[in-house]
Amino acid sequence: MAQPKRRHSKSRKGKRRSHQHLEMLTLAICPKCGNAYMPHRPCPYCGYYKGKMVIQPMEEYAE
Ligand SMILES: [Zn+2]
Repeated sequence: MAQPKRRHSKSRKGKRRSHQHLEMLTLAICPKCGNAYMPHRPCPYCGYYKGKMVIQPMEEYAE
């Protein structure tokens, strides 16, 4: 297999790895129950999406 001719410098390695970091989650506030949930998904606390009940809410929060 072909091999690299020169090793990449520390600064070049660092520049490549500068993109390898975790990003903070983006959360939306549920208009129905006020909990934070993942956007574009039904709210796990009340089971609502676009004003309709679409999933069974999580047991601990079901009322
Ligand atoms: Zn909700």
